[in-house]
Amino acid sequence: MSSPIDLSRFEQLKASGDLPSPKGVALAIMRVMQHDDVSMAELARIIRTDPAFVGRLIKAANGLIGYNRRPVASIQDALTVLGLPAVRTMALGFSLLTNYRSGSCSEFDYGHFWSASLLRAVAAQALSQRTRAAAPDETYCLGLLSRVGELALATLYPREYSQLLAAVRGDASVNLLELESREFAMNHAELGAAMLADWGLPRVFTEAAYHCASGTAGSAPEGSRDHVLIQSLSVATLMAQSCLVDDAGRSTVLHRVLAAGSRLGFDEEVMTAMCDDVAREWLEWGALLNVQADRLPPFEHYLREPDTGIDRIVSADPVPTAAPQAPAQAQTQRLRVLVAEADDDIRTTARRALLDAGYDVAEARDGYTATELALDFQPDMMLMAWQLQDVSGVELVKTLRKTRIGRAIYVVALTDSVSEDLLIEAYESGADAVLGKPVNPRLLQARLKAACRLTSLHQEIEHDREEIRHFAAELAVSNRRLQEVALMDSLTGFPNRRFFTDRLTQEWSASSRSGRPLACLMIDIDQFKSINDTYGHDVGDSVLRQVSAAIRQGLRSHDVVARTGGDEFLVMCPDTTLEAALRCAERVRSTVERAEVVAGMLHLRITISAGAAARNAGVVDTDALIKRADQGLYLAKQLGRNRVASVQLQEVTESGNADNS
Ligand code: GH3
Ligand code: MG
Repeated sequence: MSSPIDLSRFEQLKASGDLPSPKGVALAIMRVMQHDDVSMAELARIIRTDPAFVGRLIKAANGLIGYNRRPVASIQDALTVLGLPAVRTMALGFSLLTNYRSGSCSEFDYGHFWSASLLRAVAAQALSQRTRAAAPDETYCLGLLSRVGELALATLYPREYSQLLAAVRGDASVNLLELESREFAMNHAELGAAMLADWGLPRVFTEAAYHCASGTAGSAPEGSRDHVLIQSLSVATLMAQSCLVDDAGRSTVLHRVLAAGSRLGFDEEVMTAMCDDVAREWLEWGALLNVQADRLPPFEHYLREPDTGIDRIVSADPVPTAAPQAPAQAQTQRLRVLVAEADDDIRTTARRALLDAGYDVAEARDGYTATELALDFQPDMMLMAWQLQDVSGVELVKTLRKTRIGRAIYVVALTDSVSEDLLIEAYESGADAVLGKPVNPRLLQARLKAACRLTSLHQEIEHDREEIRHFAAELAVSNRRLQEVALMDSLTGFPNRRFFTDRLTQEWSASSRSGRPLACLMIDIDQFKSINDTYGHDVGDSVLRQVSAAIRQGLRSHDVVARTGGDEFLVMCPDTTLEAALRCAERVRSTVERAEVVAGMLHLRITISAGAAARNAGVVDTDALIKRADQGLYLAKQLGRNRVASVQLQEVTESGNADNS
């Protein structure tokens, strides 16, 4: 069926290796779960190696069982309660959260992003506990990850995305999605949905994420599971906003939440109580995941305030505000030095000498604080007492050198004596220089000046690397553009969507002028995924080629056919009424059904479903025409596949066999 995701473009980005991706235990979990026969014990063994994940998993499992039940305390029980798909996606979500807390896209507020994601997760979970559109633990993961496309763009194109965010912030009329598509040939809604699909989330989830992020309604019929899921995710997004917006704007957003909630069948009382629950859960999860969450007053309080109608939120989904830290560029101008020393006098002398020489300085008295600051403050150089109260210099340097940030720090060891043994010990454990105590300010400054040369060199290399990444990213965009501009699909030899929409637009204008009819068909192979799953992708490709040939054979010479998705085709039928289009579609359907599809020793029977639509007074443009055809296709699938349908007929016109079970 129609999909917002262009997989070939996504594959290029994936191949670049720069997309946010799971690491460590999450990666191991995702790998073993690719095998159907993975045992709970094996999974538990992997999970056990990450105590933080164990804690989060158990909290998630306890959140799902009733209060009167015995709480879950073991990994095995948590796995049973949550089910394997949820555990897999949860591992993925938590891994991304841990590894992408910060980054170099200066206008992207990573903290805000994760706070909002966490809120969306708990809100989506609370909603699905009531709507039952999907398992609550799975919707938690969906909420957590549904905006991962934004994070991906910030990770892939930090500089350019920063500029886009700044532009959107400065001008509320600018549409971020449009800007993204123009700049990167892909927007965050598409990219996020493609990533979720790639991670194996079910289609209903990827489509819900896509439609919610792009603000589109989707074509799912009202009341269907897909529709309820899209609605729920949108309501969850609003609920997240109601928690994040400042106090003065909360009442306005809350009224929006109530209006949206009523469309899901929840009254004011239920929605308000749910918002309170969500705010409470947010605090709990925030503490567990180390994500910023604030204590909020009861939402009922805001109900009493009238809805002023004054919208304090710039867009439906506020663009994250700039991160509070200084931009990366500013950080590189002054070198940062961390002084780790218990002795107040030595620290003071060092600080003064360093500040005089124009460095930024941070101080730590013990090893624990020094390690934390090393990762947070990210010093270029570190002045470190060789023996701190809680840790030896050897241990501290070794610990630092295990991290990416720690490896880049120029470490000067401060020692009481400068014996030969001590020098060897310091250098062997990873120190770059040794200075004797008490600290001589002039000697210190001279030593650090020498260190500066090395640090600048490091920065240049880092900068070059950044440039190379940047060029690679630009190249990826150009490649995608080239591919978009190239109008042929290499597998089937059919034109692609871009060509098709251009042609349809031309034909639309011609039919406006002449008043002649114009019709469109959307065709989708039935159960094609199972061909791939059963016989492999190569057989799938071969089937696609043969079915394409059969489709072409069934069409008239002036019909224009394009491959517009994996197993989806669009056909433009100029000068054709709806009745004629239905006949044409039926001919194609029966040609495909009768075709001998052969792959090696296999002889397969393949069928297609098709939706037909024609231009009429209610169909205002080419998009509407395609949408009507898509709705017809959906109907044909619903009615049992291997048939043709149109939503434009009073009575559904069907033809073909219904025996495609
Ligand atoms: P339905 O009858 O409801 O349409 O079921 P389906 O299996 O056809 O579902 P859907 O249309 O969503 O699945 C299309 C599948 O096509 C999913 C994807 O694995 C596969 N696919 C997409 N592009 C290609 C391709 O280039 N080659 C192969 N072999 N498979 C592809
Ligand atoms: Mg299909």
